[in-house]
Amino acid sequence: MSNTMIRVSEIFGPTIQGEGALIGRPTVFLRTGGCDYRCSWCDTLHAVDSKYRDEWTPMSASDILKRIDSLSGGKPLMITLSGGNPAIQPLEQLIRLGHDKGYEFAMETQGSVSHKWFSILDVLIISPKPPSSDMELDGIALFKTLQAGGYERGNGPDILLKFVVFDEADYKFAKDVASNYPHLPVYLQPGNHTVDGEADQAGLMDRMRWLIEKSTQDKWYDVTILPQLHVMIWGNKKGV
Ligand code: SF4
Repeated sequence: MSNTMIRVSEIFGPTIQGEGALIGRPTVFLRTGGCDYRCSWCDTLHAVDSKYRDEWTPMSASDILKRIDSLSGGKPLMITLSGGNPAIQPLEQLIRLGHDKGYEFAMETQGSVSHKWFSILDVLIISPKPPSSDMELDGIALFKTLQAGGYERGNGPDILLKFVVFDEADYKFAKDVASNYPHLPVYLQPGNHTVDGEADQAGLMDRMRWLIEKSTQDKWYDVTILPQLHVMIWGNKKGV
């Protein structure tokens, strides 16, 4: 694969962004294939596990935009770059071409890999993975990701921190990491356990209530707690 080709797992929409700061906002998703992590509860294994590699299509930036143009009816909107880890794909040309047409770009990444082109995103959502993922935080890589997004210069994309929280240890992790970056908006969302392929809707609501009670008891007031709207509506269904 040439180093300008982007490995695409799926392109779908327009639908709504289901989580975080852009919740409810119309968007088209570009889900890239491949991830440098393997979280214990990953719910997008079809974009992570190399056994699905044959389903990932190498596409040029202009072909991706043509596809998105056909989905959006040629009207620009927010493009969400997701994965897998989109940060391991060569996305700079796509972002530049899309900007020329009036599209905006929000990218979500765990903060393990950084590139200079993060600075031309419109929104950079960094989602460090908590202890329940069985992944370990690389604090230096996280800081480099923030720097690439212009955290210290203040002239890059809007940068947000988002944490998936399953339990006490995850909550403490979120609070500790967030305390290092007091100027960044922080979003918490209850984790989604998959049971027999289905979203655990009852468990999600229990964790949502627990998170609200926990953070208010803690007087953690500069945080936003949101459910995953798309999971509430469609469960774990792919491509919505
Ligand atoms: S970082 Fe995201 S896509 Fe990668 S394994 Fe973890 S949850 Fe899945």
